[in-house]
Amino acid sequence: MSACKVCHLDSKNHSKKLWVLHQQAKICTFCQKNSSEHSEKLWEMHKLAVEKGQFCPFHKKTEKLYPITIGSARAGIARVCRLNADQPNDVDFVQIHMSCTVCGLYLGSPEEDSADVLDGMCLQCFRTETEQTDIWYDIPHASKKEDVNC
Ligand SMILES: [Zn+2]
Ligand SMILES: [Zn+2]
Ligand SMILES: [Zn+2]
Ligand SMILES: [Zn+2]
Repeated sequence: MSACKVCHLDSKNHSKKLWVLHQQAKICTFCQKNSSEHSEKLWEMHKLAVEKGQFCPFHKKTEKLYPITIGSARAGIARVCRLNADQPNDVDFVQIHMSCTVCGLYLGSPEEDSADVLDGMCLQCFRTETEQTDIWYDIPHASKKEDVNC
């Protein structure tokens, strides 16, 4: 029995992969947050998004990654697309986004951060999908929390 330094839960509360993830404390290429701020699923989703986004459909190859900051707060990742043009227009930083698994639109930052919960969907699609299938979604958050505690 040992407690995790990252989330303070016992090692038993981790899957093998999540435990490794927490002990390594890696930085996510996609959102540049610590691995401890990811669930196992979210980590995989972000990793996949980078792998997919790194591929340039124009040059038909995997391109270099370059960390960028949009605005002042949010850090992101872009691929470096070299264009056949004069400097400084010869490089295009194409930001890598996750896109909604249902409608295909780019996800916003909060949606990317909770992609594991939203199953890679945008909030709108998530809402539509869950309304059709799950009743639990309409249970107010407060009562859901109580259920978890007891
Ligand atoms: Zn942990
Ligand atoms: Zn991430
Ligand atoms: Zn390219
Ligand atoms: Zn959507």
